Amino acid sequence: MPLKVTILGSGTSTGVPVLGCSCAVCKSKNPKNERWRASIAVKHNDGPTIVVDTGPEFRLQLLRANISSLQHVLYTHLHADHCHGFDDLRGLYFNSEKPIHCWLHPQLIPELKQRFHYAFEDTGYLGGRPDIRLNPLPRVQGTTIIADLDVETFLAPHGNAVTNVFRFGRFAYATDFKSLTEENITAWRGKIHTMVASGLRWRPHKTHSCIDETLDVFKRLHVERGIITHLNHEIDFDVDSRKLPSDVELAFDGLEVIVPD
Ligand SMILES: [Zn+2]
Ligand SMILES: [Zn+2]
Ligand SMILES: [Zn+2]
Repeated sequence: MPLKVTILGSGTSTGVPVLGCSCAVCKSKNPKNERWRASIAVKHNDGPTIVVDTGPEFRLQLLRANISSLQHVLYTHLHADHCHGFDDLRGLYFNSEKPIHCWLHPQLIPELKQRFHYAFEDTGYLGGRPDIRLNPLPRVQGTTIIADLDVETFLAPHGNAVTNVFRFGRFAYATDFKSLTEENITAWRGKIHTMVASGLRWRPHKTHSCIDETLDVFKRLHVERGIITHLNHEIDFDVDSRKLPSDVELAFDGLEVIVPD
């Protein structure tokens, strides 16, 4: 049963073009150099769509990908570029009136509730509240069934934070990690056909894996098709694509990938 994965956004926290920047990539006419904040949609046959992260362009991303109903959202972590489109879940709920289930690390549930408190408590506003249910992911590692799919997660270090990385059968999505844990590498080695993983830029970064580090992750996991996302404005799609090994490519917004069984 193949999975369809859509890159809803392939950009780092600032998006590309970066506001106020006049570098060649930010001024580029190549649509593959325009990057909304990082997010993906995963769909299994005729099953429901699962989205990972709701960044600031979330509404536009769903419109562009023609996704009109959604009840399953996974969160990697709560940096603004991964969750500040949360409010747009309201519109989806008001149309479907079906609960929207979100999964995130249990320690982050109070923080999400605090940031978007009006979605979870009676503020006295008469416009109605969405039915959004927050479900805990396993604390360190484990598998959760979401929309009939087994989703395995591990925690990965991301500076002074952590990020949840996910495996859906032979597909894995990992963004905003500095490295993957040895337990994670051992558990996933040889199991992944296609992996979308963040790479940011060529130069090393304190809290993010850079492209060379991400290439090493692909190699250690024996990934057959590696796709690098969460890219900044130092990366020109055409120029930097040519520097990658033949089994690795750069993500771009709107890219659709079929992951075989
Ligand atoms: Zn990010
Ligand atoms: Zn720039
Ligand atoms: Zn982050």
